[in-house]
Amino acid sequence: MAEKAALTRQVEELVLEAVRRGASMADIAALRDPDICNPDDAVEALQRGNERFFSGKARRPEASANERRAQIMSQTPFAVVLACSDSRVPVEVVFDQGLGDLFIVRVAGHVVESATLGSIEYAIAHLKCQLLVVMGHEGCGAVKAAMLPEDEVAGEPEHVRDLLGRVRPALVNMPQIRDNKARMREAVLHNVRLQVARVGENPTVRGAVDQQKMRVIGAYYEIGSGAVEFLITDEDLALEPGGDPPPVPRGR
Ligand SMILES: [Zn+2]
Repeated sequence: MAEKAALTRQVEELVLEAVRRGASMADIAALRDPDICNPDDAVEALQRGNERFFSGKARRPEASANERRAQIMSQTPFAVVLACSDSRVPVEVVFDQGLGDLFIVRVAGHVVESATLGSIEYAIAHLKCQLLVVMGHEGCGAVKAAMLPEDEVAGEPEHVRDLLGRVRPALVNMPQIRDNKARMREAVLHNVRLQVARVGENPTVRGAVDQQKMRVIGAYYEIGSGAVEFLITDEDLALEPGGDPPPVPRGR
């Protein structure tokens, strides 16, 4: 812990020194997050952060004056996270990450649509994020509403109906599950896999993955425990059990 704090201070000083001598953004990016060099490191950083969060050992966000000053010049997040707007899913808190660590897109039901894709494309093309996480969560209201018969949501405002329409295809091949909690969990996981597949169709995402500059994974946040389950393998992300994975060639 003390070692990590000393390392953080050391990085802050290096960043500040680089800012003073007029370093480029690339120089500063290279100084940040010395432990995160590739997509696998980024996954590990999120896993470690979530462990700190759910075990009551969270230490972020730290916001020293130096750290904030260093961030005036640029941002260098290591991951982009597409998550639900639900107030119980504050992404930085759940992953115990601080200022400048994550580029986050939040929309109800974490659906892939035009503004979502624009934000993700920006994070890849300009911020060089190494990991894209599509994160669903326990008790998602958007997924629950998408499970209702269409006539029951007919009275919802136009854009709510549009949003639910982007979740509904995920639920078409849901297995019969009697237990309500288990059924909801499965529905959310289906939606995570569908949105992973959809984002993987984007040329910017596909290009970054093909060049092994980025990896796309799914995640499920359990509100009750605070733990995040990561969907990383082809099997985790397959749209059908035992079926083909979504069309996302994931770099290693
Ligand atoms: Zn939700």
